[in-house]
Amino acid sequence: MVNSAEASLTAEEIVPTHWYNVLSDLTGVEDAAKLRQARPEGREGGGTVTPQIPLSMYRQSMGQERFVEIPQPVREEYLRWRPTPLHRARRLERLLDTPARIYYKYEGTNTTGSHKLNTALAQAYYYKQAGITSLTTGTGAGQWGSALAVACRIFGLECTVYMCRVSYEQKPYRRIMMEMNGAKVISSPNENSEAGRAALARDPNTDGSLSIANAEAFEHARQVERCNLSVGSGENHVLLHQTVIGQEAVRQFRAIGDFPDVVIGSVGAGSNFSGITLPFFHEKVREGLETRFVAVEPEACPKLTKGRYAWDYNDYTGITPMTKMYTLGHTFVSPGIHAGGLRYHGAAPLVSAMYHQKLIEAVAYPQRPVFEAGLTFANEEGIIPAPESAHAIRGAIEEALLAKKEGREKAILFNLSGHGLLDLSAYQQFLSGNMTDMGASDELIASSLGRLPAMDEPGAAAR
Ligand SMILES: *Cc1c(COP(=O)(O)O)cnc(C)c1O
Repeated sequence: MVNSAEASLTAEEIVPTHWYNVLSDLTGVEDAAKLRQARPEGREGGGTVTPQIPLSMYRQSMGQERFVEIPQPVREEYLRWRPTPLHRARRLERLLDTPARIYYKYEGTNTTGSHKLNTALAQAYYYKQAGITSLTTGTGAGQWGSALAVACRIFGLECTVYMCRVSYEQKPYRRIMMEMNGAKVISSPNENSEAGRAALARDPNTDGSLSIANAEAFEHARQVERCNLSVGSGENHVLLHQTVIGQEAVRQFRAIGDFPDVVIGSVGAGSNFSGITLPFFHEKVREGLETRFVAVEPEACPKLTKGRYAWDYNDYTGITPMTKMYTLGHTFVSPGIHAGGLRYHGAAPLVSAMYHQKLIEAVAYPQRPVFEAGLTFANEEGIIPAPESAHAIRGAIEEALLAKKEGREKAILFNLSGHGLLDLSAYQQFLSGNMTDMGASDELIASSLGRLPAMDEPGAAAR
């Protein structure tokens, strides 16, 4: 924790009783957000498989109600490891010789090691209430799958996880974690699903992608009774659940009498970024502050900085409904970087809409500078960051160096979304000098953008 002022707050006082719904503070994005589940008019195909979300959870995340009460059984689970600590990175500040104050919120302290358990618990609870007996999902690096496996065990649901092949092979420990919690884990793509066979036919050596894994999970959910598909990011309700992170941080900052000038998070689809930033966005709106928000993505999957704001599918085969979002195209398969959790082709509709309105900024970094930042952080602060989180660290270091150049004091907050203790083989590769930057080429991006569904806006032709 940062100092004694904060220590005087109890866990009960810091952990929020409600989630914060950003829709209540936005104008002009409601339509994009509400069309999350819809098939735009005049579209062929798509929308045959809709994400199956309990009505209670759906309403909360589409409504204008500013605060949604956290069910007591979920909050009790949160209190087992929340509030998560807000630390000041003093050694890193000294190393960079910066006038900036660098803070980080550490989400790696729970059993699964990342922020994803915040939504997994809420989802498992609501699905159980709705009479569902098993959940299935796709997972990239395995953080989401392990979070869902734990949450399913806690609330008494069965769990089947389709895990991207590149992670299934590179990160067997997360698979074991899921299996320890009673989940069944399948390497994706696999021959036993239509979506898997199609992906393998295109490229038998594919690394897999979250998009393919989700398509396989969709199929599974369709075939198994009382089984629903649960997703770990992107959807409004997921962003809603993650706001416990930022709300705690707001309280922790108030307690020490400081406030961030810039808030930074890495972006897979946008849940940890939203979790840390949205409550600060609420403070900014309420108090007329100048706070900036920076989303950091890998150059291997630059959906915000190089994607297009368009209607697209959420999965590789196009069986999901379309969403208006920043996307590289649903057939985009990111180079196999170690930050597997950032390889999804699109950004959450809410994050996309806010980016489109210039309420948030975005930057992209290549893999090596990200790992360099991760290693520096581990050396100075004593926590080995997940490669995904190291993107936010790179962003924070750049902001701190800018402050130094401009001779300006400022407070920087980033979300350390998870630990990297199961990512040591990636750090080993970095240390050995064999790591490459793996940016996505303009050709690769152009070709997948070329396969976007034809029409950009529903009713665009009529305008
Ligand atoms: C999954 C993951 C991310 C990226 O996903 P978001 O939904 O964008 O937050 C970032 N960091 C860690 C540690 C993750 O597990």
